[in-house]
Amino acid sequence: MTGGQIGNVDLVKQLNSAAVYRLIDQKGPISRIQVAEVSQLAPASVTKITRQLLERGLIKEVAQQASTGGRRAISLTTESEPFHAICVRVGRRDIDITLYDLSGKAITSIHDKFDYQDSQAFIEGLIEQITQFKAQVEPQLKELVAIGVTLPGLIDPVKGVIQYMPTIDVEQLPLGEILNDTFNVTSFVGNDIRALALAEHYFGATRDCLDSIVVSVHNGTGAGIIVNGQVFLGHNRNVGEIGHIQIDPLGDRCQCGNFGCLETVAANPAIIAHVEKALAQGFVSELQQHESITVSGICHAANNGDELAVQVLTKVGNHLGKALAITINLFNPQKIVLTGEITEAESLLFAAIERCISTQALSNFSENLVLASSELYGQSTIGSFSIIKRAMLNGVLLQKMLEEHH
Ligand SMILES: [Zn+2]
Repeated sequence: MTGGQIGNVDLVKQLNSAAVYRLIDQKGPISRIQVAEVSQLAPASVTKITRQLLERGLIKEVAQQASTGGRRAISLTTESEPFHAICVRVGRRDIDITLYDLSGKAITSIHDKFDYQDSQAFIEGLIEQITQFKAQVEPQLKELVAIGVTLPGLIDPVKGVIQYMPTIDVEQLPLGEILNDTFNVTSFVGNDIRALALAEHYFGATRDCLDSIVVSVHNGTGAGIIVNGQVFLGHNRNVGEIGHIQIDPLGDRCQCGNFGCLETVAANPAIIAHVEKALAQGFVSELQQHESITVSGICHAANNGDELAVQVLTKVGNHLGKALAITINLFNPQKIVLTGEITEAESLLFAAIERCISTQALSNFSENLVLASSELYGQSTIGSFSIIKRAMLNGVLLQKMLEEHH
């Protein structure tokens, strides 16, 4: 991990290597001359860095026909296939693990139940799961360059330390370091929703914008905020607790201790409880025939015009819209992306949210704002891969790979 202090000379080296790698990754095939021009690095530096990247196998040379029809020009592209990453998403009661290559191509995945009552069971279970997965993929495994883990909770992503988890008591749990020592591989840890916001920015619905917000409605309600292409992190490295914006001062008690937080009305358990209560009171609805109430089932009923489902989801949209209007006034994003089962009733939900935003957010801010559903829904480990991708692009992992080679 990058816990230790890093000297200025080393930092400059890391940033220059990263600038070159990033250009080749994003603009490749690209010539050395173009890399020097765009990065504004001296041609000699570019030559030196590209030589290191070539030796490490991270980039390769390709011949391109020059536009003038003269001799072939040599261009550079990244090489991602020989490098693998194990990416883990830890949920409240389940776990997903995927093997990716460095281009973000998923090679193989598992989904399993994962019960943990305390931090010791969590660590031991996680190590066991990764060990088993690694053994299972051994025949396909190329060079393993990183492990990435995302989970619900508050995390210092630079140090890989978990500060809080909603499921168990943890205090300053250095998960990154533990995985690093156990598997002898550079390991990264991040908050699941912040990582998802990054994933949408790299691969999904917000590729085209620098400023965006991803809102996830699941067991809780949370947001990841991207400002100028980077995950926005506050002083204690966690922002976007949109779920704890107070919507109703006389509302239900929230797990955070306050009353009427967004999460108490616009998260899956709250939505299901609302429907169950109405059904118990005798509301007529097609959901009466359902054996168990799920958010997916409620969305389906709402799309069929079921009055109870429509009313409940409209109310959820109004609550979300109120919280989003506040967030829009603070961050003025270009796009807001919603993720969760709830987006299965997208047209109804978005209409309610848009009505609130248009009346409650500054009109200058809301005029050109786009509301969209996640493009990565169902790709549960893509967030974990994104924090590894970020470490390649900002040089943290890249520099480690270059140094270990010597
Ligand atoms: Zn709360």
